[in-house]
Amino acid sequence: MNRLSERIRRLPRYLFAEIDKKVKEARENGVDVISLGIGDPDLPTPPFIVKRMQEEIARASNHKYPPDMGLAEFREAVAEYYRRRHGVELDPQREVVPLIGSKEGIAHIAFCFTDAGDVNLVPDPGYPVYTISTTFAGGIPRPLPLRQENGFIPVLRDIPVETARLTKLMFLNYPNNPTGAVASRDFFHEAVEFARSYNLIICHDAAYSEIAFDDYRPVSFLEVDGGKDVAIEFGSLSKTFNMTGWRLGYAVGNSIAVDALYRFKTNIDSGVFKAVQYAGVEALTSLQMEPFVKEMRELYQRRRDIAVRALQDAGWPVKPPRGTFYLWAPVPAGYTSTEFVSYILEQTGVVLTPGRGFGEYGEGYFRIALTVDEGRLQEAMARIKDAVKFS
Ligand SMILES: *Cc1c(COP(=O)(O)O)cnc(C)c1O
Repeated sequence: MNRLSERIRRLPRYLFAEIDKKVKEARENGVDVISLGIGDPDLPTPPFIVKRMQEEIARASNHKYPPDMGLAEFREAVAEYYRRRHGVELDPQREVVPLIGSKEGIAHIAFCFTDAGDVNLVPDPGYPVYTISTTFAGGIPRPLPLRQENGFIPVLRDIPVETARLTKLMFLNYPNNPTGAVASRDFFHEAVEFARSYNLIICHDAAYSEIAFDDYRPVSFLEVDGGKDVAIEFGSLSKTFNMTGWRLGYAVGNSIAVDALYRFKTNIDSGVFKAVQYAGVEALTSLQMEPFVKEMRELYQRRRDIAVRALQDAGWPVKPPRGTFYLWAPVPAGYTSTEFVSYILEQTGVVLTPGRGFGEYGEGYFRIALTVDEGRLQEAMARIKDAVKFS
């Protein structure tokens, strides 16, 4: 077993391993652990989707390999959703491809565009897949710092020209995990211009496109002029419909990028179980979609307000985020993010995520996932308030 590839050997040490160990120890010692660590909705998939799955799973015709390009009905459902929700026209044949969860597509797109020595720009702090897949594909990930003073939006004019010239892909993600930031249409415009100037491709991760608050509705990158010329956008049913375990997502946008991803995938996987794709059709086209996502937004907004208020009461300078089910807050002076998260776990049994796990620019912050019910969240926040005053 000393023959492991360089790419596996060079994988960074799992940053959360130490915390996972401490959580396990705490549980074994009888501590009532509350985990605000996981980005996985706590509520079940709604019955209207489950019911469709139950029907489709019983149909023998669904037991075979799905069509290569994915079910036509699913591609059409995605196109219909984009028309209805974003006013964007998509050709279901050429501009939509189903994914085994959006993570799969985000990881594989790097292989479609990255040659040895190419640079991919990755938001930092950010979802770790952008960096790892770039490295797997032989490319060089370069951080795109997301700074609080800029509303966690990258400053494109700060990117050195030499770096921009070597860049193939620029990953963006709004509403943003882990910061909860949202992007304006103007920023997307600027990104289109930047992509045009340097002939690079934007990969927009829109996993939280339906999770936003205070009546804000997230913008698709494809809504802005020229968006489709330069971008591929990744969508997911995971967070919107509490379907993380089902593994269903899609990529939409530029037909060359969509086709490349499709060609890559046909050599690696054989698509998504047809019954799951039909359940996805139900999710995206049912009249029950809007009431359901509204209910989820209201639920996360109530949780957000509980957590924000508690932190503010303890002296934390936090503002309510406008999207995602995360809260991103600075650690008090004198701690690294990992030290602070360990301290809170030991003192209170509450699990948080250290910002460092999302990149070097995540240092100095921690993330709270609003994926427990209001009672548990209130309890967790009360414990944190007792353990620390922000200073
Ligand atoms: C959860 C998440 C995803 C992946 O979701 P899938 O379940 O693979 O569709 C992608 N990007 C971000 C930022 C996420 O938080």
